[in-house]
Parts: sequence; structure tokens; C-alpha cells
Amino acid sequence: MNVLVINCGSSSLKYQLIESASEAVLAKGLCERIGIDGRLVYQKAGLDKEITEAAMPTHKEAIQMVLDALHNPESGAVAKLSEIGAVGHRVVHGGEKFSSSVVLTEEVLKEIEACNDLAPLHNPANLIGIRACKELMPGVPMVGVFDTAFHQTMPKKAYLYGLPYEYYEKYKVRRYGFHGTSHSFVSKRLIQFLNLDAADSKVIVAHLGNGASISAVLNGECVDTSMGLTPLEGLVMGTRSGDIDPAIMEFIAKKENLDITGIMNVLNKKSGVEGLSGVSSDFRDLEKAYNEGNERAIAACEVFAYRVAKYIGSYVAAMNGVDAIAFTAGIGENTSFIREKILAYLGYLGITMDAEANKVRGEEKVISTPDSKVKVCVIPTNEELAICRETVALV
Ligand code: ADP
Repeated sequence: MNVLVINCGSSSLKYQLIESASEAVLAKGLCERIGIDGRLVYQKAGLDKEITEAAMPTHKEAIQMVLDALHNPESGAVAKLSEIGAVGHRVVHGGEKFSSSVVLTEEVLKEIEACNDLAPLHNPANLIGIRACKELMPGVPMVGVFDTAFHQTMPKKAYLYGLPYEYYEKYKVRRYGFHGTSHSFVSKRLIQFLNLDAADSKVIVAHLGNGASISAVLNGECVDTSMGLTPLEGLVMGTRSGDIDPAIMEFIAKKENLDITGIMNVLNKKSGVEGLSGVSSDFRDLEKAYNEGNERAIAACEVFAYRVAKYIGSYVAAMNGVDAIAFTAGIGENTSFIREKILAYLGYLGITMDAEANKVRGEEKVISTPDSKVKVCVIPTNEELAICRETVALV
């Protein structure tokens, strides 16, 4: 079956058409600047990228352009649209309602809408994409795959904040976690790759991308993760602060004369390694500046790696041990000097890194030495493929 995987943001939309049996990507691309002007990037497997500038006032026009490109007689990936058997949609927040993927009925859409409060930037955009698809592809089954679902197995002690309990009861203020599709995919693949017994395994997944999070997976189930009510908690990220003393917010608000929106903007968009370094949020730029001796870039990289190492330590405590650790996403898969810095803190676990193996970029590899007590691997993530698999399983 051909599955169209859609990841819809407020002004952009990423897509892949995947043949589920072979798991081959038939075509992929993105729509950008939806509601501004509009730009479609389309690439059929084996061919060059095609770029089309065209008006996309809403997501509906964007999805229509994607569908047109997918069955265009010259470079289309399918002859007829009816060859698309199902659509898998990434949905950011499923609240406490959704602990697994689900077929998107009208009733389910209402329940997702009820979670909009929890992810006001993402969920409304996801819903617009789903509704536009339903309109343009009537009768084609659609599945929602939630970023939060994998983390719903966290125990209460891990998801409750030390806040008045009524905020949890009234507003569902608790830790949810994100990147769940990636944590699920990579933890399963790590267990398989190392031939571990899924029912008796302790693994930690470090998803280090522009947004970064880490999770503790005990016997195949998530027991803790670093992001919280929103993706702002936890690790130091590209432009997000991660954990801070909450009192800093009032302190800076007064000093800089900022309101709560201004403060949130600083924490989400002007902090992290970019805010620390003043160089960039991109680790390729940071590595260059680091090697040139830029002191703030050096500090940013040190803070980033130290925070990851501290979280790994806390998750070893949460699971009373660890069998294997996986690095994934842009930085985890590609940035060897950061992996080296993180692993340098973990000698007490009996981890020894294989320096030669750690040069790997973007492929599955064990990067610890054969005698390392804990296996450390690079496992590339593939959220689109995970969404495709979930979709096929449900339709
Ligand atoms: P997101 O999906 O959250 O936007 P990614 O997983 O794409 O993020 O990760 C982006 C980060 O990964 C950037 O900091 C970037 O520098 C780093 N990265 C991506 N590819 C490479 C690469 N080939 N070499 C080094 N770093 C890379």
C-alpha cells in the first residue's frame, strides 16, 4: 500500500509517499510559506528536486499541489490518486486521551481539538492539514500519530510537577513529552539491533536535533522523558533554554521590561546554544567556531553536552541501570565531538567509546568498544517511516 505521510506546521507542510511493503520512499518534499506566497518542493525518488512557486493561501491549496505533483504524468510517483491507500498525519499533542495512534474519525478530530490548548502553535495546524486532506481525498483512511503517545506509559511520579494538584485536575498540567514517534522507533530498533530482550531491557534514547529530548525506556515502555507540558523543558536546545530556575522569568521580565509573551519568546527562540554562543543554533557552525577557539561557542557546546550527560545519569537512576544508549536526530547522528563530550562523563557506568567508530555519520553503528559495559549506538531516526508503519497497522 502507498501511504502519504503528512507533517503539517503553521506555514509549512512536509510530506513523503512511502510504499509500505518495501518501505521505499517514492516521493517526498515540502510546501513552504503557506499563507504568505507559496513554494512547493517535490522530489520523485531518483530524480532531481522540482521547485514550483505558486499561491498557497491555505493548507488546502498546498495539499492540492502535493497531490497534483504526486500524479503528474511526467514526474508523478503514482498513475492515479486512487493508488494512495491511506494518509498518516503527525499530530503533536494527544493529551491524556491518546496513548497510541488512531483512525481519524470526526469524533477523534473533536478530541484532538480539545487538546489545542496544550499545543496552541501545533495542533490547530495539524487539524487544518487533516481536514484539508479529508476534503481532497474523500474515503481515504487517515490515521493520526501523536508525538506524545509513546510517553503515556510514564508513571505518575514522573509526570506530575510539584505544583498544586488542582492544576493537574483542572487543566491537565503535567509532563507529556514529545518526539515520541522517534523515541519509540529508535528504542525498538536499538533493542533489535543489539539483540536485547525487549521484555527485559533498559535503554536510553537521546534525540538530539534542533529540538532535543531524551527518554528512559524500561522493558520497551517509556518511564521518563525530558520534555514536559511543552517542548521547552529539559535539554538545552538550538534556541530553547530547557530547564531553568522558573524565578528567572520574573527577574528578567523586570530588568528587560518584558511581559510573559516576551519572556516566552526569549525562552523558545533566543536561548539555547544560539543564545549562549551568539553564533548559531546549528552545530555545524558551532563546531567550526569551537575549533576556532570562540569562547562562547565552546561554552555553549559544553553546556549542551553536560546537560545531556546529567539527564543520562538521572535516567540510569530512574531505571536502576542501563543496557544501551542510542544517539539519534541531526546532532546525535552526525556530530561526533558532541557524542564524545557526553560519553566522557559516563566512564563510571563502564562505558568506553571507540574513537574510530564514533566518526560515523548518519548510519547505524555501535560506537562503544566491545568490552564497554553499556553499549552505545548511533541509530538514525525515521519518523515518517514510523508514521507509515502505524498507519498500515491501523487501516
Ligand atoms: P529538527 O528536526 O529538530 O529541526 P534535526 O534533527 O534536523 O532537527 O537536527 C538539526 C541539527 O542537527 C542542527 O544543529 C545541525 O547542525 C545538526 N546536523 C544535521 N545534519 C548534520 C550533519 N550532516 N553534520 C553535522 N550536524 C548536522
